[in-house]
Amino acid sequence: MLQDSFGRVATDLRVSLTDRCNLRCSYCMPPEGLEWLPNPELLTADEIVRLVTIGVERLGITEVRYTGGEPLLRRELVDIVTRTTALGPTPQVSLTTNGIGLSRMAASLAAAGLHRVNVSLDTLDRETFKKLAHRDRLADVLAGLEAAHASGLRPVKVNAVLMRGINDHEAVPLLRYCLEREYELRFIEQMPLDAQHGWRRENMITADEILVRLQAAFDLTDADPVERGSAPAELFLVKGGPARVGVIGSVTRPFCGACDRVRLTADGQIRNCLFATDESDLRSAMRSGASDDEIVERWRSAVRIKKAGHGIDDPTFLQPSRPMSAIGG
Ligand code: SAM
Repeated sequence: MLQDSFGRVATDLRVSLTDRCNLRCSYCMPPEGLEWLPNPELLTADEIVRLVTIGVERLGITEVRYTGGEPLLRRELVDIVTRTTALGPTPQVSLTTNGIGLSRMAASLAAAGLHRVNVSLDTLDRETFKKLAHRDRLADVLAGLEAAHASGLRPVKVNAVLMRGINDHEAVPLLRYCLEREYELRFIEQMPLDAQHGWRRENMITADEILVRLQAAFDLTDADPVERGSAPAELFLVKGGPARVGVIGSVTRPFCGACDRVRLTADGQIRNCLFATDESDLRSAMRSGASDDEIVERWRSAVRIKKAGHGIDDPTFLQPSRPMSAIGG
């Protein structure tokens, strides 16, 4: 098991397959992009599968989420998913993507055994999309969502980040759009994880604000809190259900006490928290011949020292040097 000193057990592994992305969402990276990791520093597909196998077979990982950067940019994605879903015990395998290219790949991913997909969609307006993501790709994202649904991936989840003065008037239209298509929408509070270090608490649209906007248009009731478990989203039934909407108040309603996540970056570093400032280097260990037992021990030690909380509200809070795209959201 991967247990920390507060008794939390990590069972949900987020694996970044690349730090590259084909969008430039302003809450994540600057319009000119970032200096990407050099290819030799990226884990190979075999190295990723080796670590995921150790996680699942030796360390109690039950869920594996592939993310990035943009995971659809990783050529071996279908192969990696196929090899992950073939593991025993079979973990839940999901993907977080911006949806660009998903219209081509959704069927092969479903055939590879992918269980679920989360697609990021912050706006339904083409001009706003261009302003926010610095690319004219809204139509591709919407087509990707449709293809995921048509391929039988369920539930199709949608992640939205609202930014003041840019897309914060779209909470209601986004929810309406998702309800009509049976996608499950989750709003995520913007976190201080942008490469430009431009996050300001006062500019963030809070979970409270999101709920006020939604409640003006929809009848929302708390979904059974027991069901939430370690899930970051607070879930609400829309018009009594079964349709639901989630709000992830990472900053104003932190859920660190129930956190069951651990992250593996594209260059093979274990991070015990999104906001961790320390990492544990499994890539160097692997490349210098470490045995599975040695990797197990390093991984356990990395999780053992996880802090009680992300500390965003602490005056000593330091934003991690890696932005979200290089950590894996
Ligand atoms: N490229 C993929 C995508 O767009 O979903 C996967 C990686 S992206 C980093 C994963 C999720 O993190 C997206 O839903 C994105 O909106 C979210 N995200 C990125 N930066 C964020 C920030 N500063 N605060 C909150 N969410 C953020």
